[in-house]
Amino acid sequence: MKQNRREFIKATSILTAASIGGFSSKAFATNIINKKGTKMKLTFKPYTLELKHTFTVAVSSRTTTPVMLTEIEYDGIKGYGEASMPPYLGESQETATKFLSKVNLEQFDDPFELENILEYIDSIDEKNTAAKASVDIALHDLVGKLIGKPWYKIWGFDKSKTPFTTFTIGIDKPDIVRQKVKEAEEFKILKVKMGKENDREMIETIRSVTDKPLTADANQGWKDKHYALEIIHYLSENNVVYIEQPMPKEMVDENAWLTKNSPIPVLGDESIQRLSDLIKMKDVYSGVVVKLMKCTGMREAHKMITLAKSLGMKVMLGCMTETSCAISAASQLSPIVDWADLDGALLIKNDPFDGMKVIDGKVTLNDNPGIGLSV
Ligand code: MG
Repeated sequence: MKQNRREFIKATSILTAASIGGFSSKAFATNIINKKGTKMKLTFKPYTLELKHTFTVAVSSRTTTPVMLTEIEYDGIKGYGEASMPPYLGESQETATKFLSKVNLEQFDDPFELENILEYIDSIDEKNTAAKASVDIALHDLVGKLIGKPWYKIWGFDKSKTPFTTFTIGIDKPDIVRQKVKEAEEFKILKVKMGKENDREMIETIRSVTDKPLTADANQGWKDKHYALEIIHYLSENNVVYIEQPMPKEMVDENAWLTKNSPIPVLGDESIQRLSDLIKMKDVYSGVVVKLMKCTGMREAHKMITLAKSLGMKVMLGCMTETSCAISAASQLSPIVDWADLDGALLIKNDPFDGMKVIDGKVTLNDNPGIGLSV
């Protein structure tokens, strides 16, 4: 532990000296890759996101979110990454520090060896998916900058096809819900958190101020499948376009029964963390919620989306409370998904990055290389 702490302090001081969010203009000009003897260097720093509103979902309530900001420097160019760690998911700044202290990128000569490097990262320890994502994102940002292109372009996507993002309305008292809905005027589609006792009241309150399409997320909050199906029918009648994770992930048969009987798509979120879960759950849900922090980053997210689409499943690209760093990274994949919930950076007061913008409710990609962060 002492060793980790020392490495952590060393890493922190290096990163503090560097600026966060920017990158040198050299990034645009450099096409030299894999310079012999040039090493990648990973640094990281804890950061606490301050939320604009207390955020309540079926299982918890909070006003801050701990994150870890990472940088990988190679030949004078920096790639930026992030791990977002809402407490209920089991990771923390301490576990991320412990994990990232074990990462040795110096053994690799070539940042373009994404498969090799990220397989190594995944093998270091179990879980730690957000900490793994923070390396994956920084590496993708670095490689994109070395190529001089954003990832949506490297992958061959059409940026005019980005979806509208939902804006999340947490569980709250009716007057606060109405106020939040009014503040979200720019958004074409709203996401409603449910799974507590006041599900119908939430919808009625929102419907008293807007007739926009909605999406709903029960966060495993319903325990009875007949009750859940009744609510889903009510949601469908009220222009809710899909439901996320209606029942606990352990209740596999009940969730499958709901999917079979539901008038709207049923998406697995807590049930489907990684690529291997998608195979197991392909007959349980009609869609999947892909998040970088669950699946270790952009590389696996891309594979999950490809697999889900080939299985005929719907895809929603989601996020945790994150800065524009991780949100911009996820947004690179957004032109090929059905729906997006990429409002994470809009919920915080202290975003140190500038990247993807939501314009008139639509995910709007820029052409900055890598994950699309601005100078
Ligand atoms: Mg969800």
